[in-house]
Amino acid sequence: MSDALTIVMYHYVRPMPRSAFLTVKGRALDEFQGQLDFLARHYRVVRVEEVIAAMRGEATLPDNAALLTFDDGYTDHHRYVLPELVARGMQGSFFPPACSVLDGRVLDVNKIHFVLASGVAPSRLVSEIFAALDELRDAHDLKSNAEYYQAHSQESRYDTPEVTFIKRLLQKGLPLALRSEIVDRLFRRYVTRDERDFAAMLYMDREQLRDLREAGMCLGSHGDQHRWLNTLDADEQRREIDRSLTFLGELGVPERDWVMCYPYGGYDDSLLTLLREKRCALGLTVEVGVADIVRNDPLRLPRLDTNDVPVDASVPLETFGWAGVSPVGA
Ligand SMILES: [Zn+2]
Repeated sequence: MSDALTIVMYHYVRPMPRSAFLTVKGRALDEFQGQLDFLARHYRVVRVEEVIAAMRGEATLPDNAALLTFDDGYTDHHRYVLPELVARGMQGSFFPPACSVLDGRVLDVNKIHFVLASGVAPSRLVSEIFAALDELRDAHDLKSNAEYYQAHSQESRYDTPEVTFIKRLLQKGLPLALRSEIVDRLFRRYVTRDERDFAAMLYMDREQLRDLREAGMCLGSHGDQHRWLNTLDADEQRREIDRSLTFLGELGVPERDWVMCYPYGGYDDSLLTLLREKRCALGLTVEVGVADIVRNDPLRLPRLDTNDVPVDASVPLETFGWAGVSPVGA
């Protein structure tokens, strides 16, 4: 038995020819299969229900317990992930934002991914963003382009400074209405003018989500509009959570002991209070590390990115950087 729980976070999982989707951060299907083989060999993939019982002292987790999580409700998850998990008898937890299914909306974060994957040079996108800011500067009292670039282009774990700037400015660096307008312009120019059609291709529909439930998978909340929940006031947070829970309720998800996955990892004290009131059992962040189910706040559990896990079952557990690492925040 152990208190450690390795929670792995996935987004896109699909067959990826080396030439396509190179800049959409995702996991190629063959690599995903290799990771599942690695986990099957060295870990025990547990169910959400087992984690909740262990947190309450009603059960214990096995050594090297792992939980698999899939954010954003992509059709990839129904088409490629579900068969792999079912074949191995593993449970995954899936987090679809309500608005992508209910309203046929493409999340801004995905629009940015697909603009970047369209093949247009990041330097050209930066120029176009600067031109849009120039046009909108007086009406919105904006800072200079150089100031925005300086503030949002610092090195990140995976991206160049230009790509980091594009993602950070358009995900968070500008007021919501303004950044959505710029993202929409770029999405229409470089990806498609038919957002609803693109959403239907990108995200699971209700029927596919029901298939996941029927196969024993866990469905949890990723909010309604995939907002940074820590930037919203308490009323807006409640609207986000209520719409998401109504949506999940229609798919058969129970009203208590549900799982929250914070979009972009954003949460604050007011949100945590609301989630306790709503009987949320687990909250998943994007803090990097192995969780400790006794010492961590159950609503603030860290995860590992899929890039942190070997893609080959023959990699010895000892050489996997996270094996034996103390849980964070403990
Ligand atoms: Zn997300």
